[in-house]
Amino acid sequence: MKCAARDLFGINPRFKGGIISDHTEVFVNAFQEIFPKDQVLQCFPHIIRKFRIDAKREGNGQYMKLLKNNQSFWLWDKAEEDVYMLRGCRSQPMFDKLKDMILASWTHDGEQDLADTFRKSYLDNDLFNKWRYNVSGIPGCIPQNNSHERSNLDTKGCAAFPGIIKAGQNMTAMLNIEFPSLVYFNSIERTEVERNFPILDEMKSMKPALFEYYLEFDKLVDCLQYKDGFLVNREYNLGEPIDAIRVNRYESSLDGEFELDYSERHFFYYRVNELCFVTKKQLDPKQKPFFTGSCFHFYNHLTCNHAAVFQYADELPTLAKKISQEKQGRKKRRITGLERPNKYQLRKMAQEQARLTSIGTFDNPSPNHEMCHPITQTQDKAYLV
Ligand SMILES: [Zn+2]
Repeated sequence: MKCAARDLFGINPRFKGGIISDHTEVFVNAFQEIFPKDQVLQCFPHIIRKFRIDAKREGNGQYMKLLKNNQSFWLWDKAEEDVYMLRGCRSQPMFDKLKDMILASWTHDGEQDLADTFRKSYLDNDLFNKWRYNVSGIPGCIPQNNSHERSNLDTKGCAAFPGIIKAGQNMTAMLNIEFPSLVYFNSIERTEVERNFPILDEMKSMKPALFEYYLEFDKLVDCLQYKDGFLVNREYNLGEPIDAIRVNRYESSLDGEFELDYSERHFFYYRVNELCFVTKKQLDPKQKPFFTGSCFHFYNHLTCNHAAVFQYADELPTLAKKISQEKQGRKKRRITGLERPNKYQLRKMAQEQARLTSIGTFDNPSPNHEMCHPITQTQDKAYLV
């Protein structure tokens, strides 16, 4: 691709947000060889699924067998939570400090094998340790492979729909019929790719959750002018003044400094995570500057309530009030700090999967349901033999 782009158009393609793959040397070595200037990112869902296994097949539970001292719920409750916190770190020093605390804690809990394996695979190796949600520096570009996996699913098909090719046949059939038809389909039917990244899109942002947030948001308490923007309380911290102590702690965590023991590492994480840094940025030279947020939600959805209260400051007072009156006091339970958007993403994927598999089966159901899952493994290539 690089040679074709150079020879045909005289351009050198670059991957601005980084190149994302799972923990597989064949991909990463090739990326490095051909695109040495672009950073390589590790797909987060491929990591977290090793900590889980359940009926919905959200994970493959690979790390279960490493447990020495604890039951599987320790892996799901404690270790998985730790890994989600690592993903939520907003700076490299913060990631490094939390990493040390987590490994110390796992060792203390008697899980040295797990700590060693995880460190070797996803923490020490520079090729596979870039999976913080904001590591690319570009909102909307978080380290996950799902869009790519989705395209693989289209190619291979699953129980709910046939694929572009019939995988798993002998080499002759694959080389002479299936792969050529895949090339043909991809070059004839898929002539363009369009990706839209509307920042703080009105349809996406103006939702009841924002109105509820806005109604509880007190500009004098819940936000503070900071650098070239504002520090804003996230949902579960509304009402807690952002004083000098909190700002100091926020900065210390970002710098990887923490005065307490590893058993208190949640505090280290929440000192950053409970705030969203909202600032105005001109991302498109043709458009007016937009507010952007630093929280996970903004990186994942290109919108968050914290940035939206600034962006839609004119419309919100009337809209939010109207909606709240319509509700006649029927107030939904507020999302607590323990509710993690990350888990929500996993649940949503599992629900989508359940929906697809319930549609009915075709003549050639796949021999295992893993192929239907949005997250597939490279081992699937065994079907091509
Ligand atoms: Zn935010």
